[in-house]
Amino acid sequence: MKKLLLLLTAVSLSASSLFATDYTLRLDYIFSGDATHTEISLAKMGKLDGWWGRTVNSDILLLRGNGQIILRDSATNQVLYCNSFSTLFSEWQCTPEALHTRKAFENVFLVPMPEATAYVTVKMLDKRDSVTASMTHIVHPDDILIRPVASPYTLDKCRYVHKGGDSKDAIDIAIVGEGYTKEEMEIFYRDAKETADQILSYEPFKGKADKLNFIAVPVESKESGVSIPLKGEWKQTAFSSHFSTFYTDRYLTTLHLFDLHDALASIPYEHIIILANTDNYGGGGILNSYVLTAAHNPWAMPVVVHEFGHSFAGLADEYFYDDGTDQYDLNTKPWEPNITTLIGFKSKWEDMIEKKEIVTKSDQKNPAYTTLVESDYKVGIYEGGGYLSEGIFRPFPTCRMRDNTYPLFCPVCQRAISRMIDYQTIQLPE
Ligand SMILES: [Zn+2]
Repeated sequence: MKKLLLLLTAVSLSASSLFATDYTLRLDYIFSGDATHTEISLAKMGKLDGWWGRTVNSDILLLRGNGQIILRDSATNQVLYCNSFSTLFSEWQCTPEALHTRKAFENVFLVPMPEATAYVTVKMLDKRDSVTASMTHIVHPDDILIRPVASPYTLDKCRYVHKGGDSKDAIDIAIVGEGYTKEEMEIFYRDAKETADQILSYEPFKGKADKLNFIAVPVESKESGVSIPLKGEWKQTAFSSHFSTFYTDRYLTTLHLFDLHDALASIPYEHIIILANTDNYGGGGILNSYVLTAAHNPWAMPVVVHEFGHSFAGLADEYFYDDGTDQYDLNTKPWEPNITTLIGFKSKWEDMIEKKEIVTKSDQKNPAYTTLVESDYKVGIYEGGGYLSEGIFRPFPTCRMRDNTYPLFCPVCQRAISRMIDYQTIQLPE
């Protein structure tokens, strides 16, 4: 017994010895450019009490993402912490507007406050895995211009709608209101509870509920509802969100990341879900950035689970169109765990299939496929996914990442989510 205790101590020391957990360093950046150029600039640095992110696997990346942030000790060059992310800026770079206009987008990343001088590198990657921009800057932890950030929404003014464990051990997910007035806060709390309950009704979140905390943050907006540019309706809301992002009617996002993180500065938070007080259909989810979803549409709850699949676990959309976009390069392995171009398939879900057989687009029109019942569904290689009907493959006939009416994540998505929860909470074997 004594031997076992000693071993556990050794593991926990090595897991958390890379940095102290007293403070968070908040890094605010502007990503700017156009379709072919990206510039990353530091806007400001802030300091928050406590560190609520990973203390395990802190120097390992689980997903490649569309971008990465890496914190290194300047004396030893050792990676202290790294994380991957996606950003609205990358999505905007694929729009027609980016061909003729330069724009700037806010991005915020949280890293543990280093104990000694450190370097931070932020880099962006394109769909072919090439680095499109990289910026490294120095951080002196005693820099007098690192501003302490605090919010009026302290923990005593928030409500846990689910508490699985202590913030040090569990993953803290903030649910914030957008477009809820002071008088509508009870509606917000009810919506936040329903959101947490909905996510926790899906495996593997259900089985690992003790690893997840959901904290409802009652952010007040001056006006009720959110902006709908298509109808000429603009509202004064806490995070200035609106539909028609990039001129796509249903795409509801906020570009005001600095305001969003200001509101959360005094609570433990690692992931963010923004509930918009509207019955219009829409939303969006961006890896390690946020989920924003309309709370009062009939599809709101399946949609929030789908979008959380994007923002929490980096899952790709498994749906597709005949005239789909070229968001993925067919000669590159996509980093999302639930789609494949067959390049590097071994590291995808090859271990979960019996035979490496492709169910092609035309196979899926045959009675053998169209008459399949759910109990016959098998993990395989199904053509169509990631917005393209050919050349990209999904792992299962359907999934929460494909269809709002399907009540489960497919087995491959379940494994990916499960791995993400473990990555954030358990020291993985070397
Ligand atoms: Zn799936």
